[in-house]
Formats: sequence, structure tokens, C-alpha cells
Amino acid sequence: MRTERFALVCGAGGFIGSHLVSRLKSEGFWVRGVDIKKPEFSESTADEFVIGDLRNPLVCQKVLDRPFDEVYQLAADMGGAGYIFTKDHDADVMHNSATVNLNMVFYGQKAGVKKIFFSSSACIYAEYNQMDPDNPKCSEDSAYPAMPDSEYGWEKLFSERLYLSFRRNYGLNAKIARFHNVYGPEGAWDGGREKAPAALCRKVAQATDGGEIEMWGDGKQTRSFLYIDQCLDGVRRLMDSPDFNGPVNIGSEEMVTINQLAEMIMEIAGKKLRIHHIPGPLGVKGRKSDNKLIREKLRWEPTEPLSIGLGKTYRWIERQIVNQKGS
Ligand code: NAD
Repeated sequence: MRTERFALVCGAGGFIGSHLVSRLKSEGFWVRGVDIKKPEFSESTADEFVIGDLRNPLVCQKVLDRPFDEVYQLAADMGGAGYIFTKDHDADVMHNSATVNLNMVFYGQKAGVKKIFFSSSACIYAEYNQMDPDNPKCSEDSAYPAMPDSEYGWEKLFSERLYLSFRRNYGLNAKIARFHNVYGPEGAWDGGREKAPAALCRKVAQATDGGEIEMWGDGKQTRSFLYIDQCLDGVRRLMDSPDFNGPVNIGSEEMVTINQLAEMIMEIAGKKLRIHHIPGPLGVKGRKSDNKLIREKLRWEPTEPLSIGLGKTYRWIERQIVNQKGS
């Protein structure tokens, strides 16, 4: 019989963290979650849920007060372009997220955690490699010379180096993935922290057929999007790998323009809408995951087409809007 495995999920009240808790539970883990807030859209499935601020070293020590086989550090001060690229939140983003990572790596190492996962981001990649929307370069080895286009990206790069230095000097078994635009049900869909897929699903769901939606920029910038379940498949593969630690991209290679993304959502919704382009925060011109390394090292890459995940996300957001109107 398999002995019970213990996991700690930091950021368990967030989008990816709350889904990760459920995934770990379904795999038989005992799970403790920690966050400054509970998940917004459903009850956490964690065995224990601690409300606590991981910027506080005492909270970090407390949540690490028992042995853990796996720690997942996903807590971060983050949001979509409207949060990350306006420059209004830069000091908070850098200070809050770096403090959490400084605490968790230090106390995680002290507590003797067996493995720790850090969620980095595609935002670490250099802006100069992402100027051509048709040919963005995001292979793992292209991160340096570094020039991320946001302070969010710089903090992630700093924290990657932090975890790597604890691996080098203290033998901490740290594993790092660079997520590329993860989306799906139970993610932020309004309020300012939502990302493009959720924001466009909301706008399309709220529009009347034949009407119009607003979009930041000309919509010609390209991105790839990864459905939450596929993201978790990648994370679990990386954690289970005996000898590969990353940093590695976890993302899709299916690249679309933001205009195409909107068209796909309209098709799902069965609506014809005009797109009204307005000025707004944008980020780099082109970005997509490069999966050569993950294919080689983990013999895996996400395969589900964007249209499938978008369909599930659209229907969930549509239900949220109906519920909101009813309440
Ligand atoms: P999210 O904002 O939904 O989740 C982050 C969680 O961290 C939130 O619930 C927040 O309350 C919590 N948190 C923030 N500060 C905290 C603190 N001081 N103490 C305790 N908890 C705190 O974001 P997400 O989309 O679930 O992202 C999870 C991780 O993945 C983040 O580190 C993010 O930077 C990274 N990431 C996400 C994406 C994406 O597309 N969603 C892409 C790249 C990287």
C-alpha cells in the first residue's frame, strides 16, 4: 500500500492553486492550502486551509510546521495586462511577490521540504525577442541577456535565480516552470485582474448579437493560451521527474492573434460582433511557448486545442453573469 504523501499549496485561494489542490487530492495527497483569501468560486478541497500572509515569516514557519513531500509556491501579487502593464502596481508586485519567495525558499529549506515548485512566467522572456508577432522567441535558453517588459517579469526572474541558488548552495530540490497564459473556469473574469481569454469571454457573453465589443490595441499581437488541466498535467510531470528541474516552459504552441481569439469566442457563443479597438495596456507584440525542451525532457506537451478549453471557459463565465444578474 502507498503511504500518504503530504503537500503544501501556497496561493491555494487563487485560480491555479485551487485547481492544483483538487488535482493533488484526486491523486491521494493530504493537502494544506495557504492564502490571504479563500477561493472565490468554490469551496477549497484542501484538508486544511490556512488564511495567512506569506510575507510574514511567522506565517511561513507555521505552515511549514510538519514534514512535506511537496511544496507548491504559487502565491504572487498578479493579474492580467490591466494590472501588470499599467505600472500602477509595480512596487507592490515586486515587493509582495519577492518577499513571499524569499520567505518560502528560506523556511522551506530550513524545514527540510523534499521538493519545492516555483511558478515562474513567460513574462521573464526578453522583450527584444518578442517584437515580431509571427516569430516570437521564447526558448528557455533565450532568457538572457534579460530584458523582461514588466516588473512582474523581473521579479519572476529574480525569484527563479533565488530558488536556483538555494539548489546550488543548500541542495534544495527546487523545480521551476514558466507558465504561458493559463486560463479556464474559476479564474478572475472581471474586476481588473482578469486576462484576455476571460475578459473577452465576458465581453462577448454580455454583448447583444450584432453589437460590438471593445478590445485593447489593434488585436494583432499574438499569444498562446493553456487550459488549466493541461497546465496541471505539466506541473505534476515536472514534479515527478527524478532528474529534470527546469526552468521549463509549460504552455501551448497554438499561437493566435487576439483578434482570432475574439473570433473563436464569438463562434462558440454563436454571436456576430464588431471589434472596436481602443488604447490600452498590451505587453509584447508576440509570444508563444516553445516546447522543445519539455518534449525532450518530460516526453510531454499539451495537446488539447484552444477551442475546446475556450468553450468550457465561455460557458462557465456565461453562468457567472447569469448568477450575478440573479443575485
Ligand atoms: P492568482 O492571482 O489567482 O493566484 C495567486 C494567489 O496568491 C492569490 O489567491 C493571492 O491571494 C495569493 N497571494 C498573493 N499574495 C499573497 C500573500 N502575501 N500571502 C498568501 N497568499 C498570497 O493567480 P494564478 O493565475 O492562479 O497564478 C498562480 C501563479 O502562477 C502565480 O505565481 C503567477 O504569477 C503564476 N503564473 C500564472 C500565469 C497565468 O496565466 N495564470 C502565467 C504565468 C505565471
